[in-house]
Amino acid sequence: MIIVLKPGATKSEAEEILSKIEGQGLKPLYMPGSERTVIGALGDERKLGQLHLESHPSVERVDPILAAYKAVSREMHPEDSIVQFGHSRIGSKAFAVIAGPCAVESYEQLSATAIAVRDAGAHGLRGGAFKPRTSPYSFQGLGIEGLKILQRVGQETGLPVITEVVEVADVDAVETYADAFQVGARNMQNFRLLQALGQAGKPVFLKRGMAATVKDVLMSAEYIASEGNSNIVLVERGIRTFETGTRNTLDLSAVCQFKKLSHLPVVVDPSHGTGVREYVAPMAYAAAACGADGILVEAHENPAEALSDGAQSLYPEQFSALMNGLKPFVEAAGRVL
Ligand code: PEP
Ligand code: MN
Repeated sequence: MIIVLKPGATKSEAEEILSKIEGQGLKPLYMPGSERTVIGALGDERKLGQLHLESHPSVERVDPILAAYKAVSREMHPEDSIVQFGHSRIGSKAFAVIAGPCAVESYEQLSATAIAVRDAGAHGLRGGAFKPRTSPYSFQGLGIEGLKILQRVGQETGLPVITEVVEVADVDAVETYADAFQVGARNMQNFRLLQALGQAGKPVFLKRGMAATVKDVLMSAEYIASEGNSNIVLVERGIRTFETGTRNTLDLSAVCQFKKLSHLPVVVDPSHGTGVREYVAPMAYAAAACGADGILVEAHENPAEALSDGAQSLYPEQFSALMNGLKPFVEAAGRVL
């Protein structure tokens, strides 16, 4: 249920209602807004009825939440939420660009790539240490050693770092070394992993599964939020269709749907979304134009020798050109780069 307080209701009145909700065994959510405070109550709605909040003097109205995904729905939280990733505020007016190699391969490779993307204007660094590869014979990532390299390069360049977590057992290690978790497409419905991340203290970038609907993604986000971590960024990275000219079909209409249905920030990954280097920049521009809050892009100091996803990774000069080309699109969308 959503409990909308009257304008001018004080924080202590809100706290009184929050503790009543908690006392009924329901999960309370406190969402102060610029005009009104909204309180959410998640759980068995019959128990809420016993509190008769409709007649409470500070309450304007009590509405049901219609969406199955509740905490992440826009019904529950009409204003856009902002997720802090290092010094970037994702979902704010500032369009976020996170770039880096598919995988952390060595200190030298990551450092050279990070310096290049930072100097071109990137706000964050990506790089996988645990790689969920389609083939067991492909490079699986450097594991903990990769996390250590990522942390070191992040500190040296001043860029916040994001890396993929593939299993519950690695959550603590990834949280120790990185500024944000990435949940990959192949793990979007690994519900135990999502629940563990809901109890973690760092933001989660949740990538859309290759056969997941927009509502499936929102239900997965709900798994994280319902455990207490609402710092979630949704990532559109393309879905499987009958098209074979691209690795996936980048579904930019999903950005509009996510924005309509949820308050969470949305980032687009044009690298996995196309799989083809020359399509990455135009799809990045389209992402900015359609209202995404940022992009997640693969770049490599020498893509020809990359151990994974070389064909979609940008050369440093291509990444610089992308940053220059992106600016007018970001500004046309009313944001800043
Ligand atoms: C990645 O970001 O390198 C990756 C494996 O992405 P996805 O889960 O979208 O395939
Ligand atoms: Mn990749």
